[in-house]
Amino acid sequence: MKKITRFACEICGTEFADSGKAKNCEKSHKSPKEFVRCRYNPIGIDASGYPQTITVKMSDREELLYKR
Ligand SMILES: [Zn+2]
Repeated sequence: MKKITRFACEICGTEFADSGKAKNCEKSHKSPKEFVRCRYNPIGIDASGYPQTITVKMSDREELLYKR
């Protein structure tokens, strides 16, 4: 019987045969640090009240816009 060891990225869950590749995957992920701005639609267009877009500052200082 052969034992098979796999390593999973703790952030996205992807499995790798090589621990170094799993570590590289973990290091590649950037975390959101703060909201820069949220944009909303008026109640007549979207009664849910949730933001339509969110701009987030990431751990590497980049600002990214997310839409729903
Ligand atoms: Zn990952």
